[in-house]
Amino acid sequence: MKDIVLIHRNVRMFDNPALFHGSKNQDYGVVYLYDQNYWQANGKSKIQLNFLFDCLKDLDQKLKEKNSQIHVFSGNYLDLQKWIETHFSESMIHANHCTDVGYFRDDFNGFRDHFLKKEKIKLYSDFGIQVKAPNRDKWAKDWEDQMSKPLLKEPYTNQYINKIDKPLKPLNLFLKDRQFQKKKNSSFQSGGSDHAYILLDSFLKERCAGYSFKMSSPHEAEHSCSRLSPHIAFGSVSIREIYQKLLRELEISGYKKDLNSFKKRLYWHCHFIQKLETEPELEFNSMHPMADELRQDANNELIEKWILGETGFPFLDACIQYLRNGGWINFRMRAMIMSFASYNLWQPWQKTSPLLAELFVDYEPGIHICQVQMQSGVTGINLPRIYSVLKQSKDQDPNADWIKAQIPKISNMCLDKIHNAELSDMYFEKLVDPVLSAKKARETIWASRSNIEFKKIAKDVYLKHGSRKRQNARF
Ligand SMILES: Cc1cc2nc3c(=O)[nH]c(=O)nc-3n(C[C@H](O)[C@H](O)[C@H](O)COP(=O)(O)OP(=O)(O)OC[C@H]3O[C@@H](n4cnc5c(N)ncnc54)[C@H](O)[C@@H]3O)c2cc1C
Repeated sequence: MKDIVLIHRNVRMFDNPALFHGSKNQDYGVVYLYDQNYWQANGKSKIQLNFLFDCLKDLDQKLKEKNSQIHVFSGNYLDLQKWIETHFSESMIHANHCTDVGYFRDDFNGFRDHFLKKEKIKLYSDFGIQVKAPNRDKWAKDWEDQMSKPLLKEPYTNQYINKIDKPLKPLNLFLKDRQFQKKKNSSFQSGGSDHAYILLDSFLKERCAGYSFKMSSPHEAEHSCSRLSPHIAFGSVSIREIYQKLLRELEISGYKKDLNSFKKRLYWHCHFIQKLETEPELEFNSMHPMADELRQDANNELIEKWILGETGFPFLDACIQYLRNGGWINFRMRAMIMSFASYNLWQPWQKTSPLLAELFVDYEPGIHICQVQMQSGVTGINLPRIYSVLKQSKDQDPNADWIKAQIPKISNMCLDKIHNAELSDMYFEKLVDPVLSAKKARETIWASRSNIEFKKIAKDVYLKHGSRKRQNARF
């Protein structure tokens, strides 16, 4: 076997650099590494794994038409390294770069460096991320260059059948052993490129109508947002393909404002991931180091009630129930859920972030961790925003129909009581006074920001991570 293509989170046939280049000699094997410990790492969960299995199944079927298939290697990258050295030491390895949690980075980097020394691995860019020498001043241009490159075709047909034995298993046998079977009628999104293309086309043509304002309501966003996030996270469609289709649609669309809003977000996607790529310690430390002194003690009881949606605030609890049932919620509600944990409950984001991430099918560590930090006021370069759960309740669900659908046991309660979280002994007790807790949080955060040393460090943070497109950075 001349080439080994490693699949991690780019599970697609089309515009997949590792798969395309790895298939050129037409003598290749495709390997997915399954590491149980990775799936227990920061924020990873079974619902994400199930989505990935959908994507792998889809890719496996398509690869069979190219006389190829996916083999699963169970173990870590060191185990895989030994196996390759023993059986395929002359093969060239192909992999797409991926910004992921520390567990993956530490594991993969050892493997990568080993084969780099022997010139037996080729790494490819996928997202618009600067991997070598990150430089924010030329970031936007690099992103445009990456997104404008021609799309790569499907892989070439394999001309050789390679006999790959234990410990590798064909994907279908691996899934059978794990008794992987998706529940029918699940509200969780299904993985695979076919689903991604259906979402992309319906969004660009019709569903985007009103996207720029409908995205704020959890109810309307379900249909009006693209819902591409898990597909982008697991790579069942390339972000470059989405971007290029979007540009073509923008020329003819009657929904230019909405599509321009969407375009900005594709850029933000990589802008956020770049932060974790540049500074992997952000997984554990606040972007502004002084902010880690703010919240040092965790209250596990409060955190548990928060993540189970038992805070006593119906709208917030409804959002969490909705998220738990389907693995997705819109941006504003994610921000509110996080803001409540960090400001009102005053809990350290390092404790709450993984619990929330586990509920998202689309968990993308670079976006999630940086957004969590933003919504906790610990970046030093973004203005703190404390969401009022009572105001959001009235604004986003005036008749409380959506809240009642998520929490049927309060469907007979009066509207005002639901919005003001005054359900007394009919519902969970409120964990905090929302107004007093927000006031205290605001005062504490602003007091820390007024410190001269804080401002000095914030400038360095901006130089490293701040978007140069934004004119209103405040220190
Ligand atoms: C606390 C918190 C955690 C988050 N965690 C994640 C996460 O783990 N994975 C994730 O993909 N998004 C995350 N987001 C960003 C955003 O909420 C989701 O991208 C969005 O809701 C996904 O739905 P969609 O694909 O329909 O989005 P659309 O509105 O259709 O946007 C299209 C794509 O743009 C990107 N995007 C959209 N909004 C943002 C944003 N604010 N920042 C960066 N990229 C963005 C995503 O890739 C998204 O799929 C988080 C936001 C917050 C506040």
